[in-house]
Amino acid sequence: MTASCLFCRIASGELPAHRLYEDDHILAFLDLHPIRAGHALVIPRAHHVWFEDLPEDLATRIMTCAQRLARRMKAIYEVERVAMFFTGIHVPHAHAHVVPMQHVHDVTSQAYLSAGSDGYALPPQLPAAEMEEIARQLRRG
Ligand SMILES: [Zn+2]
Repeated sequence: MTASCLFCRIASGELPAHRLYEDDHILAFLDLHPIRAGHALVIPRAHHVWFEDLPEDLATRIMTCAQRLARRMKAIYEVERVAMFFTGIHVPHAHAHVVPMQHVHDVTSQAYLSAGSDGYALPPQLPAAEMEEIARQLRRG
């Protein structure tokens, strides 16, 4: 735990939250600034900044909790899909967002908005050689 970390303080109980689930390893609670009603965050109790640095078992616990929440959200909000993502933008303590999607652009990228907020535009494809080079870099160790 770090004393200045907002999510460590929530995990320890120092700060309140609308808790949805908790065990010895993880905690789920409502986002204070929801994209949609039900927007939840799932965090490890231990302080890790980036999701890619989470131990595999902890990452699995977060994903399993998000899956449970997603099934519940689908039943409650009658949505076709629930988004789950990590951005690492606001609080430097890894947190998965779980959002019931009422609209196709609820959690979208600007890259998909060139047809407007009610459309859904595919970004242009990259040349094959560039794609192969990108794939080659990402396959490396
Ligand atoms: Zn923290």
